[in-house]
Amino acid sequence: MKRTGLGLWAAVIAFAAAVQAAASAADEAATKAFIWSIPKAELHVHFEGTLEPEHYLELAKRNSLPGRYATAAAVRQRQRDGRDLKSFIEVYEELLSVIRTEADFREVAVAHLRRAKAQGIVYTEMFFDPQMHTERGIPLATVFAGLLAAQAAARNEFGVRVEYIMCFNRDRSVESALAILEASKPWHRRILGVGLDNPEEKDFPRKFAGVFARARSLGLRATSHCDVNQPNTLAHHWGCLDELKVERIDHGINVLDDPALIAAVKARGIGLTVCPTLMEADIPGRLEFRAKAVKRMLELRLLVTINSDDPGLMRGLLVGDLMLGVHRTVGLTKAEIVTLAENSFRIAWLPEADRAVYLAAVREAAR
Ligand SMILES: [Zn+2]
Repeated sequence: MKRTGLGLWAAVIAFAAAVQAAASAADEAATKAFIWSIPKAELHVHFEGTLEPEHYLELAKRNSLPGRYATAAAVRQRQRDGRDLKSFIEVYEELLSVIRTEADFREVAVAHLRRAKAQGIVYTEMFFDPQMHTERGIPLATVFAGLLAAQAAARNEFGVRVEYIMCFNRDRSVESALAILEASKPWHRRILGVGLDNPEEKDFPRKFAGVFARARSLGLRATSHCDVNQPNTLAHHWGCLDELKVERIDHGINVLDDPALIAAVKARGIGLTVCPTLMEADIPGRLEFRAKAVKRMLELRLLVTINSDDPGLMRGLLVGDLMLGVHRTVGLTKAEIVTLAENSFRIAWLPEADRAVYLAAVREAAR
């Protein structure tokens, strides 16, 4: 009797667990479908970081370049092995070295935009790093021609809009940034603004105050990376707001460490482009930390968005995947998912009439 009773209980418990697992799988499938169906903007993705390992091999072959990696698996292994910023940038610069012609630039951007569209990204503000190309002998005109050809192709072939933000590298000189800013004048009407990326240096952000003042005087808007948990991060955030006069901060998670900064970001309507990019299997604890920050920012009603940063180096994870990852980690309500999509258009550098159209599309899809 006793054994039969225990057996019955075990069966009941197993049945309950199976029901729960089925329910959570159904919940996940429904949430995924909901996230994918909502129109979204992406505001923090680096053109150079969208190159997938397979595409890298294809371009290396086409351009008759030796390339350091023989297989896509070898590239991915190297990406997994590199844990620090230095090795990340090493892989980054090696991969982008195969992008050489106008057609290469167009293809890489179009490939990303097409993949992102499958997850509901209808509008993208894409960063690019001209210094990384001109320094290896690629003319600025080739970079712009390729990116603008991608803009036309994405619009005409699959109805996605992309605009560009020109980034300067924080580990390169002010003179080099100013030279690019002046040399790119013929294309200023074709870009939205300027940004700053690559490692955070000791003299950041003051070092770039003059460059940003000049960019603003030329009619360009301003954003800057403040990476996560960097030395002097709070001073960097304040400097970006007060000295660079940015409208957005890329990443910006450490805003949460300073109540005065939270208040300033809120009062000034500063957008935050957070990237919860790596999953638990890659760096334990990292997704949880970033997902909790997204949840907290939503609770504080900050203008937070979710972005993919460098999907080619992050297992190809796109905005939909990352929103789902955050949902799995901290649980997002439907209303919070809609808010994230709305925020992505609220802080986009769009004309007001276009913003209204996108916001209406979000509301319609969420009904
Ligand atoms: Zn970034």
